[in-house]
Amino acid sequence: MKISKLFTKTTKNAPADETSKNAKLLIQAGFIHKEMAGVYSFLPLGLRVLKNIENIIREEMNAVGGQEVEMTALQIRERYEASGRWSDEVVDNWFKTKLANGSEIGLGFSHEENLTPIMLDHVKSYRDLPVAAYQIQTKFRNELRSKSGIMRGREFLMKDMYTYSIDEKQHDEYYERIKQAYIKIYHKLGIGDSTFTTFASGGSFAQFSHEFQTLSDAGEDTIYLDRKTGIAVNKEVYTDDVVKQLGLTKSELEEVKGIEVGNIFSLGTKFTKPFNLTVDDETGKTVTPIMGCYGIGVSRVMGTIAEILSDDKGLVWPENIAPAKVYLIALGGSDVIAETDKIYDMLSKKGISVIYDDRETSAGEKFGDADLMGIPYRLVVSSKNIESGKYELKKRTESDLKMLDIDDILEVLVA
Ligand code: ATP
Ligand code: MG
Repeated sequence: MKISKLFTKTTKNAPADETSKNAKLLIQAGFIHKEMAGVYSFLPLGLRVLKNIENIIREEMNAVGGQEVEMTALQIRERYEASGRWSDEVVDNWFKTKLANGSEIGLGFSHEENLTPIMLDHVKSYRDLPVAAYQIQTKFRNELRSKSGIMRGREFLMKDMYTYSIDEKQHDEYYERIKQAYIKIYHKLGIGDSTFTTFASGGSFAQFSHEFQTLSDAGEDTIYLDRKTGIAVNKEVYTDDVVKQLGLTKSELEEVKGIEVGNIFSLGTKFTKPFNLTVDDETGKTVTPIMGCYGIGVSRVMGTIAEILSDDKGLVWPENIAPAKVYLIALGGSDVIAETDKIYDMLSKKGISVIYDDRETSAGEKFGDADLMGIPYRLVVSSKNIESGKYELKKRTESDLKMLDIDDILEVLVA
């Protein structure tokens, strides 16, 4: 991708109406566009990051047997009356609207009431279980507070998976497998070291749910963290009894702020029962499957990474989710441009994704944008470099430069 062809532009100053660091940086770098509080459009480079995050999550969901679906965002009132969730007192952040014929519908905030009737058509026997289906889809929630940039959207991207199991034992085993997959995902996303599995309120079917909380002062949740074991407890369930039950010691727990980047919980038969989803077990007896629900805020993860890995120069993307691996800079006249064009083609042919700054602007501007956009490597070509055959390669996270010839550069970048 050539910067001269990219329609988005970076800006020097942060937008005045944003309070959150993630939105400020992402807007400045031209990754997102603010429509209104809590509603953002994703622009070419931002969308690349979002898709990269999506794909890491998708891979791990597939690895635990999840089958991808895409359900409708329009939700039928009667379904939610059946589960007891239509009322605004039960779900306080619904967007609701009307069809032309006057019947009321909702915009999807969660999909238990969609998937369970689908399973009713397809799942009949214990042999069909356990089953896991997931989607990566835009959710709508009429959030009261929307001051956290893309970390709390009124429209946001979520991965939601749902499992159905024959009994508690099967459910618990699957739940644990998915919990491990979550831990793996956050590591792959580059926030594993600061993301902690957190005991939180379990609703009516389990004592606890598990949240995945990334430490940050920008977080909305208060958690109590035991650094030695990596176990955390959300304030909402933090009592002497719970601390004791989890084998923790109160004096060793640290009160910190966290961003909830994911959330898994047991739903028991809360949805399978009202929709009469049953299967025959091995003995021919009719049983009601146990359901689990597993969410990750895909766009919130992107905001979280922007929030916690950035520095005073701008964004810092981990390599596997960055919009490109290298920011290639040409410094000089037409001879330098011609040589850099060649390097650009060569890197591209090797499958390395490159943002090529081919503009006629100052070196300072180019370096500034490379940093602001958070591209993992910066490669500089100048007439001096061309003479010596050694080019300047710098990592976004390090301050030292390396002078390398093309073969060595390829070796670093192809790895
Ligand atoms: P929160 O406590 O932050 O309001 P929640 O507990 O309602 O979230 P779930 O319904 O479990 O969240 O949704 C699954 C995941 O989706 C959450 O763990 C979070 O990462 C993400 N998420 C929830 N609400 C939003 C939002 N408004 N904007 C962006 N991501 C969100
Ligand atoms: Mg929550």
